[in-house]
Amino acid sequence: MTTRWDLDCSAHPAALASAVLHRPDAHPFWSYYQISAIHLRPIEGMAPARKHNPASTHELQVLALKSHEGFDPSQPSTFKALLPPNLIIQIESTDELAIELWSQLVRAIDDRELNPDTDHRSAQLAWLRRLTVERPRVSDLVAYGSRCAWWDDKQRVGSRRVGAHALPCCPHCSGVLLETTWESWTKGVEEHAEQSGDGAYPAFIEWLRGKCFPSLRAARAAYDASKPN
Ligand SMILES: [Zn+2]
Repeated sequence: MTTRWDLDCSAHPAALASAVLHRPDAHPFWSYYQISAIHLRPIEGMAPARKHNPASTHELQVLALKSHEGFDPSQPSTFKALLPPNLIIQIESTDELAIELWSQLVRAIDDRELNPDTDHRSAQLAWLRRLTVERPRVSDLVAYGSRCAWWDDKQRVGSRRVGAHALPCCPHCSGVLLETTWESWTKGVEEHAEQSGDGAYPAFIEWLRGKCFPSLRAARAAYDASKPN
């Protein structure tokens, strides 16, 4: 029996990915749920997206769908959703990471790890916060600045056009990036901490993730200043 329908998003310029799941156990009246990843960039001819926070770039949403006569879980044109949405969470992300989070959310609901009903919102939020705050290793590689101190999962790099090519770059200063594996990155951080006797170094590097500073020294000064003694 089918319990999941992946939808064609090509007609919806803001939608990156969307699926419907059948979860008859989730609620006595609602058994179909649509889970979508949406970007919040401006779209010509449409009202600007309502951002909860100016930094928000993407939204994950869960809608309960009415199973009215004529409803077909594979055909978005037949959908009537219960409003307000069951869940809306806005994040600062790349398209790739938003789609990855969406696919993990769909899987967790499909596997019954998460209940999509509003009664379970705090569990949904805790689950998403864990995913977004810990920022999972989406790819096998770490990218790091060669001219700045930025580093993060390779999925979070920016890009800039050079002639016909899009080159990966620091999303803040557009500086050139190098890359390595997570394994050697983590090992390098541990070795540096051990050799230098700087026990705070691993926590500093974790704090630095996703931040751009012109040098490690400048980053460390900001990190030390940010700590409550
Ligand atoms: Zn940078």
